[in-house]
Amino acid sequence: MAGPFVAGVDLGGTKIQVVAVNGTAVKGGSRTATPTTSAEDVVHEIVGSVRLAVQQAGGRLSGLDKVGIGTPGRIDGRKGVVSHSGNVVGMMDPFALGPAVSKELGGLPVVIDNDVRVAILGEYERGAGRHYKNVLGVFVGTGVGGGLVLEGKLREGRGAAGEIGHTLVKPGGRLCSCGRRGCLEAYAGRGCIEATARRWQAKKRMKTELFEIMADRRRDRLTSGVIAAALERKDKMAEKLIDEAIKALGIAIANAQNLLDLEAVIIGGGLGDRLGKPFVDKVAEAARPHLHVPDKPPDIIPTELGDLAGAVGAAILAGG
Ligand SMILES: [Zn+2]
Repeated sequence: MAGPFVAGVDLGGTKIQVVAVNGTAVKGGSRTATPTTSAEDVVHEIVGSVRLAVQQAGGRLSGLDKVGIGTPGRIDGRKGVVSHSGNVVGMMDPFALGPAVSKELGGLPVVIDNDVRVAILGEYERGAGRHYKNVLGVFVGTGVGGGLVLEGKLREGRGAAGEIGHTLVKPGGRLCSCGRRGCLEAYAGRGCIEATARRWQAKKRMKTELFEIMADRRRDRLTSGVIAAALERKDKMAEKLIDEAIKALGIAIANAQNLLDLEAVIIGGGLGDRLGKPFVDKVAEAARPHLHVPDKPPDIIPTELGDLAGAVGAAILAGG
């Protein structure tokens, strides 16, 4: 029989991605929508997805050793508790996700950590970061998450290391989702980009097809796909917004580089993955004028695992 397996779960606000890993190889996977009804339903869905992924890998739940979960928000990893997550239903207040999943899996060990930290772990060990020792991961999605690996170790600090999304790129600038102004995320996070687009649209500041594309696709948000489609049509507003995002990313990454002298910066996340290498190359170009040692820039590269980084990293967290 195939196995033993470790399952890695990437629990996101909209989807649950699971991989079943045997050794270092991904053998099976499953993806499903994140329930919006209750935390208990999220637990059931995670367990169902784990079962599916293991089956797809040709195994059974009895061959499963351990489960790792990456979750957005603040995590108390030792207790397996999600302290606060605004993105998953029922987890605004502390929720013992690890123990709940473990109970439904017959007491199997379950470890959890923050989703971005887990994703950078995945990229560092098995993706674009595997040739380096000092790496910054920048995940450009709804927000801008970051993770820092120094001398081969994921930096925790006191729990908040690597938060490049909330470093300052413009004092007094645009309002960030964290409540402060001028953070990188206020310019490069999809959520803040959308807020700016809606404001400009209300003021009729410039012509745009962004919202028509959104309606055509029956979306109620400016998803990464909507933004990418608008860019393909050379939409002026989309181009301006992404141009600002690129400049802000260049500044923040150059600042991190000047402080840490990194070997590589890996750019991923929903928007980063969708816009891909051309976007990443433009970010590298935008960083260059701000580098203190311009003849030794870091390699600024896209992720390799794409949207599997979180699930693979969660499996690594669990020892897979
Ligand atoms: Zn912020």
